[in-house]
Amino acid sequence: MSKNEKGRVRGPATRVTHSGREPLAQHGFVNTPVYRGSTVLFPTYDKLVAYDQRYTYGRNTTPTTDALCEAIGELEGAAFTVLATSGLHAVSTAILSFVEAGDEILMTDSVYFPTRRFCDQVLARMGVKTIYYDPLIGGGISELICDKTRLVFTESPGSQTFEMQDIPAIVAAARAREKWVLMDNTWATPLYFRALDHGVDVSIQSATKYIVGHADALLGTIAANARAAPHVKRTSIALGNSAGSEETFLGLRGLRTLDVRLERHQRSGLEMANWLKAREEVAEVLHPGLPDCPGHDIWKRDFLGASGLFSIVLKPVSQAGLAALLDHLKFFGMGFSWGGYESLVVPFECSNTRTATAWKRDGPALRLHIGLEDVADLKADLEAGFARMAAAGS
Ligand SMILES: *Cc1c(COP(=O)(O)O)cnc(C)c1O
Repeated sequence: MSKNEKGRVRGPATRVTHSGREPLAQHGFVNTPVYRGSTVLFPTYDKLVAYDQRYTYGRNTTPTTDALCEAIGELEGAAFTVLATSGLHAVSTAILSFVEAGDEILMTDSVYFPTRRFCDQVLARMGVKTIYYDPLIGGGISELICDKTRLVFTESPGSQTFEMQDIPAIVAAARAREKWVLMDNTWATPLYFRALDHGVDVSIQSATKYIVGHADALLGTIAANARAAPHVKRTSIALGNSAGSEETFLGLRGLRTLDVRLERHQRSGLEMANWLKAREEVAEVLHPGLPDCPGHDIWKRDFLGASGLFSIVLKPVSQAGLAALLDHLKFFGMGFSWGGYESLVVPFECSNTRTATAWKRDGPALRLHIGLEDVADLKADLEAGFARMAAAGS
């Protein structure tokens, strides 16, 4: 890929394949190698005092981190992209890039719980107040925006409960009052939702999920538009952000297959969601890609696809029945995180964490990640689990 081709518009599958690679600049080897390093040497006194070379210190950038930032930046359509050691670190760095004591931020009530904990524990201590809002508020956010408001934080669909936010309406309201809009865009990735194109200032990824894609590394990315770029850059450097070399390499490696993996996650996810919807044990399916699920219209209007993560609510069942379903599953692992090649299931309970809205259901809720296995095997696995559940009694 020659330099002057950069920035040219090309399709997303081509981008994930070719962005951030320059084989001929590295002896023809296809992949950017892992540069490990702290010290970077300067050839002369003049260069050293002027800090005048592309690489200056391992914490700042390396050819490996540059490669991933360039690729993510191209996919997101960003002016500036930086890596973080985890998705949560990307979230905290992005928020800290804008706030100061006395500010308020508006935070969706359906946010990933550790983001909420960062706000309540760290921002609160710094004198930054977090105001939680109904994820379905849309343009109504303007009623919550005041002089003290610094930014609006969004995550769509919501963690665990999959509320679709009206991002264009929120952006319009925030822009009218010159407020920043940040988005945790992990679920869709930049392939299925182009957050910056929709007016979001900063798009955050837990690259741990679909970008790494193999459950073998933690990594975050922050992609900023031109007006947000100086803020994110300054703060990220000042905070000492530095993603590991191996993790960055695994991010690059995962990225190359993101398009094909997501296609399969989407197809299998929709098939499983439809199958579960027809099961008598299931009260509700929360998957924005299903026509009669809440938020489907917004998803259809704004998003280019769905990934493999969604939730279901079961009809009321005893603890023993639920344990019988979840224990002894063959292909669905029970564990946190998602976005790897494998299927996962975790029960969740969020009725006690919400503060702006109520989320209450009669039966237990489960979040499913549909991996790359054969769908028939996944159905059989859950079918056997439902049979155990029935045998355990309600
Ligand atoms: C997992 C996750 C994060 C945090 O990512 P880590 O890499 O685990 O720190 C942030 N946001 C969302 C939506 C997530 O699912």
